[in-house]
Amino acid sequence: MTAARVYLDWNATTPLREEARAAMAAAFELGNPSSVHAEGRRARGAVEGAREAVAAAVGARPQEVIFTSGGTEANALALTPGLKNSGKSLDRLIISSIEHASVLAGGRFAADRINAIAVDRSGVVDLEHLRQLLETEGPALVSVMLANNETGAIQPIAAVAELVHQAGGLLHVDAVQALGKIPFDIKALAADLLSVSAHKLGGPKGVGALILAEGVALSEPLLRGGGQELGRRAGTENVAGIVGFGAAVKAAIAALPADAERVQKLRQKLEKILRQTQGSVIFADGVPRLPNTTLVGLPGLKAETAVIGFDLAGIAVSSGSACSSGKVQPSHVLRAMQVDDALTRSAIRISLGWSTTDADIERCAEGWRKLVGSLITRDDETELERFQTS
Ligand code: PLP
Repeated sequence: MTAARVYLDWNATTPLREEARAAMAAAFELGNPSSVHAEGRRARGAVEGAREAVAAAVGARPQEVIFTSGGTEANALALTPGLKNSGKSLDRLIISSIEHASVLAGGRFAADRINAIAVDRSGVVDLEHLRQLLETEGPALVSVMLANNETGAIQPIAAVAELVHQAGGLLHVDAVQALGKIPFDIKALAADLLSVSAHKLGGPKGVGALILAEGVALSEPLLRGGGQELGRRAGTENVAGIVGFGAAVKAAIAALPADAERVQKLRQKLEKILRQTQGSVIFADGVPRLPNTTLVGLPGLKAETAVIGFDLAGIAVSSGSACSSGKVQPSHVLRAMQVDDALTRSAIRISLGWSTTDADIERCAEGWRKLVGSLITRDDETELERFQTS
C-alpha cells in the first residue's frame, strides 16, 4: 500500500476547510444578491454575513470590504494612480523589492512612476531606504506586504506606515499570506488598503478582498458595469466563493492561536533536523517569521530536482514561490536579499498548516536526509531513482 501524500505547500494553497465546503454547498443554490425578491435577498444576506466575517477578521468595517476574484485582483485594484490623501493625488508608487508578482507588476502605474525599496539580508524592508525614497519622490502610494510568501519574514508595517504618512502618502499592505496565520488589525498596522485571499486560509480559490481603512476612497474601479460592491467592483458576486471565504475566515481566526502554536512547534522540529545538515541555510532565520514557513537552501542542491524528488516520495513542497516554480528562474526575493546564485537555486519552501502532523514532519525529514545524502555521491538522475524505489 502506498503511504498517503504529505502536503507541505500551504503557502501555495490550503485544503478547503469543512466549514467552507458546507457553507458553499448550500450557497450554490442562492439567487442573485442584486435581485429584490426573496431569492435575491437570501443571497444578499449570505454575502453580507461573509463581508462581516472578513471585516471582523482584520478589524475593519463591513462597508470597507470589496470582494474580488482573489489576492491578485485586490492588489491590482489597490495599485491605482490618483488615490487621494488629504485632497492630494498620489501618482507615484513605491513597492518593496520582495513583493508578490501581482504587486511587482505595479497595477496601473507606468513603470517610470515606480520605485523599489531595498531589503536587508534577512528579507526585511530597509526603512532608511524608504525614508530616502519618500524624500526624493514626494508623497506616494507605498505597497509593502505583511508577510513574505517565500521566506515568511514579517515586515515592520507600523514603522513603514509612520514614514509613509509623515510624507503624505498612503500605505497598501498585501496581507494575503498573513491572514489566518498571525493576528493583526488594519488599525494597529495603520494600513490604508489591505489585500487578502480566501484560498490561503482554507477558503476556495478565486475569491479575495481589498479592504479600505475608514475615509479611504478608490480613485477608479478595475471593472465598470453594475453597481455591485458600492460601485467599486462591477459584476455579479461570486456568491458561493464569498460565502466559503466568510466561513473559512471565521474558522481560521477562531483556531488561530492554538494552530499557530502547534504549527510553530512542528516547524521548529523540522528546522532542527534541517540545521543538522552542514552548510544548510534557513532564510530569514532570526527575524519575526510566519509560524508555518521554512525556506531552506543547501549549496549543491538543485531546488527543481529536489522538489521532484520530494514529490516522488509523496511529499509536496515547492521551490521559491509557486508562481515562479514553473519557470526555472531564481527567486527575486532571495536576489533582493543578496543571496548568492548557487544558494538561491537550491532554495526549497516547506510550508505547514493546521492539519500537518508529527508524522508528516518525520516523512519530510526522511525525504530531506535521503536527498542530502545522495548529494554527496550521486548525480541528479540516480537521486530521483532512489526516491522512486524507496
Ligand atoms: N500576494 C501574496 C503574498 C501571495 O502569496 C499570493 C498568492 O500566492 C497573492 C498575493 C495572490 O493571491 P491569489 O492567488 O488569490 O490571486
